[in-house]
Amino acid sequence: MTTTALVVFTRDLRVHDNPTLRGAVDAADRVVALFVIDERIADSGFGCPNRAAFLADCLHDLDAGLRRLGSFLVMRRGDPIDQIAQLADRLDASSIHVSLDWSAYAQRRSERLRARLTADGRALVEYAETIPLVPPGSVHPQDKDHYSVFTPFHRRWSQAVVRTPLDAPERISSRRVDRGSVPTVMELGGGNPAPELPAGGETAGRARLDAWMRDAVHQYADHGDDLSADATSHLSAYLHFGCVSPVEVAARAGDSAGGAALVRQLAWRDFHLQVLAARPDASRRDYRGRGDRWRRGGEDFVAWSEGRTGIPIVDAGMRQLVREGWMHNRTRMIVASFLTKHLYVDWREGAAYFLNHLVDGDIAQNQLNWQWVAGTGTDTRPNRVLNPIRQAERFDPHGTYVRRYVDELASIGGRRVHRPWDLSPEERAELDYPYPVVNLDDARRAFHTARGETPDAP
Ligand code: FAD
Repeated sequence: MTTTALVVFTRDLRVHDNPTLRGAVDAADRVVALFVIDERIADSGFGCPNRAAFLADCLHDLDAGLRRLGSFLVMRRGDPIDQIAQLADRLDASSIHVSLDWSAYAQRRSERLRARLTADGRALVEYAETIPLVPPGSVHPQDKDHYSVFTPFHRRWSQAVVRTPLDAPERISSRRVDRGSVPTVMELGGGNPAPELPAGGETAGRARLDAWMRDAVHQYADHGDDLSADATSHLSAYLHFGCVSPVEVAARAGDSAGGAALVRQLAWRDFHLQVLAARPDASRRDYRGRGDRWRRGGEDFVAWSEGRTGIPIVDAGMRQLVREGWMHNRTRMIVASFLTKHLYVDWREGAAYFLNHLVDGDIAQNQLNWQWVAGTGTDTRPNRVLNPIRQAERFDPHGTYVRRYVDELASIGGRRVHRPWDLSPEERAELDYPYPVVNLDDARRAFHTARGETPDAP
């Protein structure tokens, strides 16, 4: 008798190095590939325009990739559990193959799917190694279920045995089934995406990976933090949606200083994932409460979100986010520190704004990076306050990054652009640019006091 496996794609939208797809192909004579638009996600606003547009590209490209292998992508909309169970029944599937994921929502979805398929008498195969490099739980301290500090995690993580990357299947035999149609951006819950949003999908992701490995990885260790060089890989959205595999990225990074620095960043990705796996409530609750009585974001928050704080490096970062749906890691840290520590606004408000815009917006990475910066997460120096001016002078020494995004300051040469309040009255009068919304020194002292430290702590 001919057997059929059902493979359910989630955020593993690729045919190369995909253990879940490979598992399905090895398990049965025929394979049907399914993606379910989860109505609760699409309708909740979590599917922001930038991610919706990127996801639409990913689905088109995955369908094209599967067609080249002799198959295609079946699309359904609704509750994923109902849709998977119904299609499995219709195909009389011998097994259903799904990648594991670790947000609270994904964990509940897995539990519901297990219960439903067990009740239906169907075999579910789950894959822990498709989304991360080293799955949550595979390395942990002796007496705990996860690492809460990055350095010891990284030490153990670096020694973990990682699987070898897999080629795409040579051919996939499928079955006749109503395909549904690949959704539009609006159907995915989107509106107008950012003007400079990159194209999504495995083809675009692999092209970026190839080009970056060829031309730029060697500069990464020295220039990854250099804002004007823009020397990072820009792979985050492709990694978030699984268009490229972290296992393949790490395998191709090689042993150069740049390659090692890149792999270390992938360790941060796994680190946050294993924290979230063990503490799914860390997406909303302080991982380590510091007794903060945060301010609710008012006018200051609006100025921050619109890139009008009067602190050029902060405004440049926030405008990059709106223009590209992406922001450099260094400015993500600067703007998040400014919001939570100088303005003392709740990190959840900043994180929610980021999730509305980031094309790589990801519960584990976004919420736990915000908590790290706010000092409620895993940072071992939770009360440090980044000085945005010193950060700007160090990582954008010629002011190129600021001028790229803050048009009002485009005529100010050199690093003077970082301190527009020091310009001559004549120059200042010509600028249509606000004065800072806070005095940085006073705000820093107030933060230290709020955290119960002496105000002059560094
Ligand atoms: P590269 O420097 O080329 O790094 C390669 C890959 O390593 C990245 O694509 C990413 O997958 C991973 N990585 C790099 N830095 C980090 C990090 N600090 N934490 C976890 N993984 C990392 N990253 C997201 O993917 N989604 C988010 O929603 C997100 N929100 C963030 C919010 C804040 C406040 C901060 C400070 C950081 C956030 N990051 C997030 C992490 C980081 O800023 C981005 O992953 C990175 O800027 C993406 O650019 P890149 O692909 O060029 O990175």
